[in-house]
Amino acid sequence: MEQWQKDLKESIVDVETLEKVLGVPANEVRDIVDQYPMRITPYVLSRIKKKGDAIWKQVVPTSEEGNSDAACEAEDPLYEEKDSPVPGLVHRYPDRVLLVITNQCPIYCRFCTRKRFVGSPGTLTPDNLEKVVAYLSEHHEVRDVIFSGGDPLMVVDMLLERVLKALRAIPHLEILRIGTRVPGSLPSRITEKLCSMLKAYHPLYMNLHFNHPDEITPEVSRACGMLADAGIPLGSQTVLMEGVNDDPEVMKRLMQKLLAIRVKPYYIYQADLVKGTHHFRTRVEKGLKIIAALRGHTSGMAVPHYVIDAPQGGGKIAILPQETLLYMDDEEVVLKNYENLTFRYPQPVQSNGAGKEADIPLAMLPHLDTKVL
Ligand code: SF4
Repeated sequence: MEQWQKDLKESIVDVETLEKVLGVPANEVRDIVDQYPMRITPYVLSRIKKKGDAIWKQVVPTSEEGNSDAACEAEDPLYEEKDSPVPGLVHRYPDRVLLVITNQCPIYCRFCTRKRFVGSPGTLTPDNLEKVVAYLSEHHEVRDVIFSGGDPLMVVDMLLERVLKALRAIPHLEILRIGTRVPGSLPSRITEKLCSMLKAYHPLYMNLHFNHPDEITPEVSRACGMLADAGIPLGSQTVLMEGVNDDPEVMKRLMQKLLAIRVKPYYIYQADLVKGTHHFRTRVEKGLKIIAALRGHTSGMAVPHYVIDAPQGGGKIAILPQETLLYMDDEEVVLKNYENLTFRYPQPVQSNGAGKEADIPLAMLPHLDTKVL
């Protein structure tokens, strides 16, 4: 057994141990954990500093998960199952697919979009791998496969390699991407052996899930450094959550710390409308405020896209604070910067006369009523 498997075995998975270690009354959360499994690795446990802190909230079950019955919430709010042509595969966007190879994760995030199945037994079977390969071989428009949670790094190297090898044999698949929470919650899983195996399947990218600056530690830095040294470009994904990271300063520290360990901030997600997660949702204004507080106030490298994964399978939609583009016509664009100063950018004159390239109907744009520098 490898060290990471031993670490995993030491995790808190039952309510009696949870009560003993963290003092959460077993009876309060027994039904919740029966429905939505729990796993808290020793590493994540060591990061909890006090009851109700940002790490605690992400992994410790509460009875609130059973109260959430708002009509807008669903077990599968993104309609992934509707877009699944073969087991394990979701094909929503024109040129890329999402692949789930296991239902296991290092921790079970209480806000997870896939609460409906993570933690239940299940790994991609050889039969289903064959079906996935057959589907992808026929679909020449697909050029990008995203391995997503359950966490792909939870399977042993041999099994992960079997899947990577099968996909790499399909010539039109250009890019493979792994979405994982492992480096931040079970860093011992990132071994030299894993990194040297992954290296053979470039171009391979990784998006790592982090939600709070306290998740960035020397152990995590070491794990991310090993992946980066294996030539894997690293991006991050963060879920905006009430009481965890819905604060511009907290988010800024997270993004800056990520960059410092060679992880490029990629997405901040508005929380999905998942049944049992109502208590994590924030208003969208908070996300916009956070992006406004990042833009210009720190390196552009540290500013991720803020997206809402539209309910019912609408896909990811990036949203931006509106006030940066004040006005645009054939001759000029007027912009506002992070200090609320406005600037005029002249449009180039087209060879056929006035510039007519803008696809955005000019009438839709706001008219300038502020002083331009
Ligand atoms: S690691 Fe990802 S897939 Fe797994 S429980 Fe957390 S959010 Fe869900």
